Amino acid sequence: MKPVIAIVGRPNVGKSTLFNRLTRSRDALVADLPGLTRDRHYGEGRVGGRPYLVVDTGGFEPIAKDGIFHAMAQQTLQAIAEADAVVFVVDGRQGLTPQDEIIADRLRKSGVRATVAVNKAEGMTGDSRSAMLTADFHRLGLGDPCVISSAHGDGVVEMIETVLADFPEEEEADDSERPRRTKIAIVGRPNVGKSTLINTLVGEQRVIAFDMPGTTRDAIEVEFDHADRPYTLIDTAGLRRRGKVFEAVEKFSVVKTLQAIADTNVVVLMLDAQQEISDQDAHIAGFVVEQGRAVVLAVNKWDGLDEDKRDWVKREMARKLGFMDFAKLHFISALHNRGIGALMKSVAGACDAAFRKLSTPKLTRALQDAVAHQAPPRHGLSRPKPRYAHQGGMNPPIVVIHGTGLGNVPAHYTRFLEGRFRKQFALEGTPLRIEYRSTA
Ligand code: GDP
Ligand code: GDP
Repeated sequence: MKPVIAIVGRPNVGKSTLFNRLTRSRDALVADLPGLTRDRHYGEGRVGGRPYLVVDTGGFEPIAKDGIFHAMAQQTLQAIAEADAVVFVVDGRQGLTPQDEIIADRLRKSGVRATVAVNKAEGMTGDSRSAMLTADFHRLGLGDPCVISSAHGDGVVEMIETVLADFPEEEEADDSERPRRTKIAIVGRPNVGKSTLINTLVGEQRVIAFDMPGTTRDAIEVEFDHADRPYTLIDTAGLRRRGKVFEAVEKFSVVKTLQAIADTNVVVLMLDAQQEISDQDAHIAGFVVEQGRAVVLAVNKWDGLDEDKRDWVKREMARKLGFMDFAKLHFISALHNRGIGALMKSVAGACDAAFRKLSTPKLTRALQDAVAHQAPPRHGLSRPKPRYAHQGGMNPPIVVIHGTGLGNVPAHYTRFLEGRFRKQFALEGTPLRIEYRSTA
């Protein structure tokens, strides 16, 4: 599993600037998706080809408003408890503040691996001034601080290497082979009905559940069959078995949700028909797309709602989750076991699409047909010339296009090609990536 790094600190120290820097390279992949919020709080980063997940805890919707600990909301505390490592950002220009000491105290008590990042120190890394800068912050009792500039990038890579140094380097999962059991993760806000759906799906069956003691947390996986297909359910909610039913012990966990999405083949994103789509829903949806996961949308608690309401929900979805328009939408009732069969059919279909084999001749033919129908727009005096295409990966399918001048293909044309490939190869329910390899 990819290690999760949580960024904490008081307001204005530079957390979101650091988050953006850490996730920037990945951003390019999803930058052109219409409607995907720029203001994200979860993302993937890489150093030296090594992936990790980043959570900007400053961006959580406060769940507990009457905070016992006003500097940090409940979800932040939970993220600290569940993350593999914490980067605690402080402001090098302001120096140590009482609030920093409170946060440090909390971190020390939690026992999580924390690294202090003294930010806003551009031009001072590796310099004699950096020792002066960090002197005060040693008092926080969290080891040697790193000196960084989130805005300029100084020291950031070194800091992340320090943070990740203790984690075993894992081989990246090989997505070129379809697993025998499809991995499925059911994600969504508290109380949307995840546990209810899980019990509806697996309740009737003989279930093999096993705890997997990890280094910092336990995860459980549940194997079940549906319509003759084998699935492995990845836990997101801290499931525990009580008698015949599963219960969520912890109500909602950002860290577990992110890890489950990173680790699964297909995501069932659950929404509540009786609630508006929140920013948190949209952030999670954005992360699903960023990770390239196949996805099916399930609007739950559909029982007892009329046609007007159904239209309203559809408009909400189009407005807030427009970047997921490739996903199938189902109205279900987990409690009354309605619409579950159709939902699982779409899950199976999305997984098939995610692992579809796209042959080079067929892809190239589809590309050439598309270009004949509409050529890429000129750039200056020349026109980009796509020549042939091959498949570069699965789950998500990646189409690699070769040719000349492809660095100048505009985003709208890439979307046009995406639409053609989707139609041609019936790629419903999965994100599709298009990459360009230009010879000139
Ligand atoms: P957050 O509230 O902790 O997420 O902080 P932001 O990332 O929004 O940054 C707060 C302010 O500090 C913004 O005006 C940033 O431009 C500025 N800032 C962030 N990182 C740096 C840095 O490395 N150097 C300088 N000089 N300013 C920075
Ligand atoms: P979780 O926090 O996402 O795991 O949500 P739960 O499965 O614990 O469900 C939260 C509440 O919603 C419970 O009281 C369920 O009985 C209720 N619920 C779940 N599914 C449905 C549904 O399809 N219709 C209605 N009306 N209530 C539901």
